[in-house]
Amino acid sequence: MTGFASRADGFWPSPVRAVFEVARDPSVVSLAGGNPDLSVLPADAVGDIASLLLRGRAGEILQYGSGAGMDGLRELVVKLMARGGSTVTGADILPTTGSQAGLDLVTKLYCNAGDVILAEGPTYVGALGVFGAYEAEVQHVAMDEDGIVPDAVAEALDALATQGRRVPFVYVIPSFQNPTGVTMPEERRRELVAVCAQRDVMIVEDDPYALLAFDRSEPVPSMHGMDPEHVIHLGSFSKIFAPGLRVGWMAAPPEVRGRLQIAGESVVIHPSNLAQSLVTSWVGSEHWEPALDSAVALYKERWDAMNEALTEYMPQTASWTTPSGGFFTWVTAEELQGRDILAEAVAHGVVLVPGSASYMDGRDSDAVRLAFSGVAPARIREGVRRFAEALRGD
Ligand code: PMP
Repeated sequence: MTGFASRADGFWPSPVRAVFEVARDPSVVSLAGGNPDLSVLPADAVGDIASLLLRGRAGEILQYGSGAGMDGLRELVVKLMARGGSTVTGADILPTTGSQAGLDLVTKLYCNAGDVILAEGPTYVGALGVFGAYEAEVQHVAMDEDGIVPDAVAEALDALATQGRRVPFVYVIPSFQNPTGVTMPEERRRELVAVCAQRDVMIVEDDPYALLAFDRSEPVPSMHGMDPEHVIHLGSFSKIFAPGLRVGWMAAPPEVRGRLQIAGESVVIHPSNLAQSLVTSWVGSEHWEPALDSAVALYKERWDAMNEALTEYMPQTASWTTPSGGFFTWVTAEELQGRDILAEAVAHGVVLVPGSASYMDGRDSDAVRLAFSGVAPARIREGVRRFAEALRGD
């Protein structure tokens, strides 16, 4: 077929979604998808809430709603964001159909074709899909064990300014980053905010894993809380409740929020009233926090199992990150260079995400992303054993 707009060249299927097909085979161990474990959710309690909502407020919920989202959800988000040190009001919050949609809207609002977005190297594959669809270039910035390096961001911004290139925003995933599992400590966040504020460049803070620290006693403050004028925050209920509902949010200064709302209205009119109400009632109920605690305890147990299996099965040449929360670790090994490791892993009965998927140019990578969130410890162990086998070429 021909006749598509030129931007259609930037629409490509997510390499992660493609492996989900293979992962459906029950004999295959999937260390690919960053899926939350929903077994901790008391299905009866969720069902009761849904049924109460429909019986009590059907007229409101089944009717068209507001592009600004539902008041109750916005108020709930205000409370959640206070945990990360953000002082927002309901007027700063825009509910979205998942943070993926938020990412699309913010890119639509800020990005012209040919602009350069700075992002971590490596970054979230789903963000690359959005940036490609809006014909942006992505320049990956170096990371260290504390995340993106602010001096490298400053250098890249200054060089691009000299070249007359427009940078609509810097995109970062500060907590338990997808794909590396790395978290930016508070000081690092402050440095990045200062670098961007000095140059009047926005930061898009994509933070769906913020509440998934293994130790939830002291959350790292969000960059949005440090400088709400220069940071657009994307949040999500996908990892802390249920991704199938497709509910997330954005926090932005009121003028930006208003424009994002108009952009959103032309796509979906408004996010689903039923999904927003269910999230509001569930996360606002006494059931939510204990369910989240149980989920996080499960993820910690699974990370321990993965770490143990990696220690046992990986070659000496391999190293991997030590996440303090979230869903992922990033395994680096020189043997991965120049290989189609996904095909080899599939042949050994395990799926994972090859590192190359996390770079805009699909460059060769000596790393893979492994997710530990959705698989029981014994399966994780078996998956890592199979990956090690594939790596050795057995
Ligand atoms: N951003 C990041 C960093 C993610 O990892 C994901 C989900 N994998 C998303 C955004 C999209 O999440 P949602 O389900 O809220 O659209």
